[in-house]
Amino acid sequence: MLLWLFSFSNWADSYSVDHFRAIADDVNRAPYPVYQQLLAIEKNKSQLSDEAYLWFLYRKAHAETLLYFHDDFAKTVELGLSLIDQYSSAEVVASLKSYAGLVAERKGKYKKAIALFKEAMSIAERENLNSIYTQTKHYHAYTLSLTELYESSLSDLQEAYVEAYALEDQFLIALINETYGAVYGYMNEYDKSIEHYNRALDTYSRLGYKPYVAEAVYGLASTYRYMGEYDLAIDKFNLYRENIAYTPNQDISYFGAYGLGMTYAEKGDCPQALAAISTALSMNGQIDYDAELLKKQAQCFIEQGELTLAEQSIDQASEIFADMPQLEGTRWTLELIKLRGHLAFANKEYEQAYLLVQDFYQRYTKVQEKNSNSQLIRVKAAMELERQNVEVSLLQQRNKVQQLQIAEQALENRQQTYLIVVTLMVLVLIAMLAINQYRAKQRILSLSITDPLSGSYNRRYIFNHLDRSIESRSAKQGELTILLFDIDNFKEINDTYGHPFGDEVICRIVQITQETLRLGDSVGRIGGEEFLCILPRADAEQGKAIATRLKDNIQHALFTTEQGEQVTITISVGVSELSNDVTDRGTLYVNADKALYEAKNSGKNHVVIFQVKG
Ligand code: GH3
Ligand code: MG
Ligand code: MG
Repeated sequence: MLLWLFSFSNWADSYSVDHFRAIADDVNRAPYPVYQQLLAIEKNKSQLSDEAYLWFLYRKAHAETLLYFHDDFAKTVELGLSLIDQYSSAEVVASLKSYAGLVAERKGKYKKAIALFKEAMSIAERENLNSIYTQTKHYHAYTLSLTELYESSLSDLQEAYVEAYALEDQFLIALINETYGAVYGYMNEYDKSIEHYNRALDTYSRLGYKPYVAEAVYGLASTYRYMGEYDLAIDKFNLYRENIAYTPNQDISYFGAYGLGMTYAEKGDCPQALAAISTALSMNGQIDYDAELLKKQAQCFIEQGELTLAEQSIDQASEIFADMPQLEGTRWTLELIKLRGHLAFANKEYEQAYLLVQDFYQRYTKVQEKNSNSQLIRVKAAMELERQNVEVSLLQQRNKVQQLQIAEQALENRQQTYLIVVTLMVLVLIAMLAINQYRAKQRILSLSITDPLSGSYNRRYIFNHLDRSIESRSAKQGELTILLFDIDNFKEINDTYGHPFGDEVICRIVQITQETLRLGDSVGRIGGEEFLCILPRADAEQGKAIATRLKDNIQHALFTTEQGEQVTITISVGVSELSNDVTDRGTLYVNADKALYEAKNSGKNHVVIFQVKG
């Protein structure tokens, strides 16, 4: 970052693809200063290479989306996409397509958004761009939830979560937690929603990613609103307003006003609600959010007896939804029917009111059917009952509305059970992943300490182990002896019977050594046919006894060549112990080596204890 402050002799070199790739973190932390630097670079864009310019645009879009410069974001993404060709790197192409999906989603073009996300995912998958793949998959899941396809949305999110976990990418995990928070919020699973938002919030705060902190606070506020915890919601919306100070964009306060307007309306505080709603509607907001505000505005107008104004708001909301065919038949649009029913009721057109409200509940029930089968049966029964009551008064109708609401509640309970199962599955998957990782680690660890030929410890490990044994011995003042042994005339054995037979001899000798040593002793291969044994709690005399047993066991073992010939193998052993004079590994080892040398000199097949020559 600091490098930006210096001017370089070769300007274009300092603004390479790598540079734009590396500043992602800075953008996430504080997009506005980076954005200004990007605008300065843009003045000399002709000096950038084609690829660097594409990366520049990607990063610029990145900053713009976090700053809520939505129109600029859309333009930058479009420009970027128009410049890609077959030489562009897959990473930047997939990222721009993914952004194009976000642009479409913000405009309510969910189908187009889904198609773009899929395209980005398939590029990322082909090129092994795991993190882009997972991030896009999570955008995709969120878009599905907007069209109430909760089941697919959750299964996608679940997969993305497992992938992010495997990548150990904290930021991605937080993003997915945030989206879980949103989806659970839509599904009325409030406790889970809050838990996930708080997890995301923790990570974002730790990373210092201001835009994301603000978003998660906003999400929390929305969930409190859905829960009916209106005062908490209002607190969080106000906190959100403080947290968006990182961007100079005034439009962003639209969302704060939106949240406050919706919350006050739901709290039943129409004067405050109407004020916040008209603030929000006067801003350059998001069209589908506007429709929600208009519905609340209509509701408040009805309550205040402003029926003409109410009708106008309902009509405006209907116009917005008319441009969003994907939302046809969802709760968002169906609520307009209910509102028209309430308006008719306020206009004393009771029969019309009844028909509209009934129509709403019938259609709303159909929507709910999509999400659960058992509820289908209950609701069908309720509808059956309804059809039998041909002569319905308004009062009776209200009772039935209540019945339907009870059935609706039952459906929600059913969905809760379903979600518990899904969550358990995610947990099992995560546990399996963790176990696999643990096993892989254990495998790597054992490979790093063993000698591949004989399976004994390798040189590095046995010497480290000796160091540790010496240290722990000095603490306890226990005894410690080492054996250094070497196969006699091994060259000749190799020359006579071949190298593979020599290898076999090495393996058998390790096996015999392991069988001969005591529990707690260890052996390692420190050279071609040279081995070191560590004998804790043994003095030189005991060491000599063990060495002699080992030497005898090897001498009496049967080594048979491929041709069936019996060969006798012998070893020579040097023994040395730690004492008041010998306290370090170096001396201990040199002493054992001297003793081994003497054993060889005195005719081999011998055990010699090191002794200070007087
Ligand atoms: P000495 O009794 O004095 O120890 O004689 P030596 O023949 O055993 O000693 P030298 O050091 O001359 O020869 C050691 C031989 O061990 C030479 C080398 O070819 C052989 N060797 C070393 N590593 C391996 C191995 O991994 N496999 C086999 N088969 N032979 C090995
Ligand atoms: Mg030898
Ligand atoms: Mg040797």
